[in-house]
Amino acid sequence: MRDFFNDLLELFYPSLCVTCGRKLVTQEKYICLHCLHDLPRTGFHKDPGNKVAQLFWGRVPVEMATSWLYFRKGSRYQRLIHFLKYKGLHELGDEMGRLFGVDLRSSPFAAVDVVVPVPLHWQRLRERGYNQSERIAAGMAASLSLPLSTGNLVREKFTSTQTRKNRFERWQNVEGIFQVLKPEEFTGRHLLVVDDVVTTGSTLEAAVVALQEAGAARVSIATLACAEVG
Ligand SMILES: [Zn+2]
Repeated sequence: MRDFFNDLLELFYPSLCVTCGRKLVTQEKYICLHCLHDLPRTGFHKDPGNKVAQLFWGRVPVEMATSWLYFRKGSRYQRLIHFLKYKGLHELGDEMGRLFGVDLRSSPFAAVDVVVPVPLHWQRLRERGYNQSERIAAGMAASLSLPLSTGNLVREKFTSTQTRKNRFERWQNVEGIFQVLKPEEFTGRHLLVVDDVVTTGSTLEAAVVALQEAGAARVSIATLACAEVG
């Protein structure tokens, strides 16, 4: 997504809205109030049978699952996810996580024990410089006043891209990629696994399996966005 708008945004960041490019005023941070108001929120945390929860039915036991935003290809909010992931704007992840957490405050998601971001493999972490899921999880943990666990769930295998693979191939690709270094830290706890975007759910499924094998009592899932399907 290289275009004139992006070049301009990088030049003037953080004084322009990452979504519409409008000049931000003092109380606005990364995103203007207009775009913030119009965010394509799913409201899934109020619906236990939502589409993201359904994604895991028959695959792995998940206590609750939610995504904050719809990720529509071609929408102006696609830019926001893009900047989160590829532009090294880790403060944007913190801020989006914080806002997501605010929306979850009066929901059962606020009652989990520990927030656990999906880790990156160390090689990818070195390439990117930071883990966007960890930034989102940190923002959520802060606004929900919950502990954040990093470095205990680790990614052991460097995986190839998931697109162009069928469901079985995708599972083969991610099976066993996660490990828990100190299982005792997760034993008997209700964990909230956090990722940036959920599409097929294969990576999250593998993370849930690893956490359950480590002795977690319950595992729930929260992602910043979900690909819109159907
Ligand atoms: Zn805007």
